Amino acid sequence: MTTPSLEQLRNKLNIINHHLLELLSDRARVVQEIGDVKENQGTPKFDPVREKEMLSELVAANKGPFDDKTIQHLFKQIFQASLNLQESEHKKHLLVSRNKQKEDTVVHIGDVAVGGSKPLMIAGPCSVESYKQVRLVAKAIKDTGISVMRGGAFKPRTSPYDFQGLGIEGLKILKEVAGEFGLKTISEIVDPRHIELASEYIDVIQIGARNMQNFELLKAAGEVRTPILLKRGLAATIDEFLHAAEYIVSRGNTQVMLIERGIRTYEKATRNTLDISAVPILKQESHLPVLVDVTHSTGRKDILVPCAKAALAAGADGIMVEVHPDPATALSDAAQQLNIDEFNRFYSGVKESGLL
Ligand code: PEP
Ligand code: MN
Repeated sequence: MTTPSLEQLRNKLNIINHHLLELLSDRARVVQEIGDVKENQGTPKFDPVREKEMLSELVAANKGPFDDKTIQHLFKQIFQASLNLQESEHKKHLLVSRNKQKEDTVVHIGDVAVGGSKPLMIAGPCSVESYKQVRLVAKAIKDTGISVMRGGAFKPRTSPYDFQGLGIEGLKILKEVAGEFGLKTISEIVDPRHIELASEYIDVIQIGARNMQNFELLKAAGEVRTPILLKRGLAATIDEFLHAAEYIVSRGNTQVMLIERGIRTYEKATRNTLDISAVPILKQESHLPVLVDVTHSTGRKDILVPCAKAALAAGADGIMVEVHPDPATALSDAAQQLNIDEFNRFYSGVKESGLL
C-alpha cells in the first residue's frame, strides 16, 4: 500500500472541514430554534446542568486521539458560540431595539417633542434650593427660549451628611415656578413609592445614574405614563443601559429618553469620561431619543460648548446643562454649575453652530 501524498491528505482534511462546517451550521440552526422555544417559555438561555451533561457524555464517548480535556475545551467553545448566537437573537427582540421598531420614538413632554426632529436643550439647577433660586434660573432660561427646566428635589448624594434635597417641597417649588413661566419640568425620583405621585408635580421623571439598575424603581416607572429620562449608570455598559430601558418599556411606558452622562474611567481631567461614541451606538441600536448631559459628564465649565457641539454633531436629540444663579453658594455640584451669564454665553455658543 502506498502512503498518501501530502496533497491527498490535505484534500481529505478540506473535505472534513466542510463537513464540520455543515454540522456546526446545522447545530447552530437547532440552537436558534431552542432559543425561540426558551424565549417563549421565558426560560434562561444558559443552562449549566445541561451543559455539564453534554460534556460528560462527550468525554465518555471519546476514543481519542484527543484527550478528554481537549474535547471538553473544544466543545465548550462551541457551546459558548451557541449561547452568543441565542443572546444576539434575543437582543434583536428587545422592545427598545431598532430591529423591533425602525422609526424614532418621539417623546411628548406636553407640546414639546423630543427625538426625531429639532434637538432640545434642558437647563436648570442641580438642586432645587428655594423658590427664589429656581425662579431666577427659570427666568433666564425662558428668556433664551428654552422650554424644559431641570431641578433635583431628591438628591442621591455620595455622603449622607450632604444636602439631600427638599423632597416633595422641592417638587412643589418646581411646579409653582414652571406654571408661572410656562415651562416643563424634569426632576429625579429615587423611591418607587413616589413615581405615581410625581406626575402631580413634574412633567418628566428622571432616573439617576446611581439608580439605573434599581430594578424596582424601573418597574414602577414602567407602570406610569409620565415620560422618563433614564441616565446611564456610572459604570454601565451600553447593553446594560438598554436593558434598564427595556424594564420600563416592557411594562408599557414607551415614553423613555436615554441620557449619556459620562462613565467612570481612569481619566481625572474630567469628572467622568463623556462617551461620545455612545450617542451614535445608542441611536443605531435603539429607537429611543438620546440626550447628553454635558455638565455631569465633564464636571467642567470650560469645555461645555465643544462637548455640546460634539454631542449634537454625533446625533444627540438634546443636551442637558446645570445652571445656578450663584454657583459658589450652591448646595450641590457648586464647581460645575454655570451662572446665568455663563449660561447665556454657553447657549449662544452652541446655537452659533447651527446644530441646535
Ligand atoms: C443629576 O442630574 O441631578 C444627577 C444627580 O446626575 P447623575 O445621576 O447623572 O449623577
Ligand atoms: Mn448635579
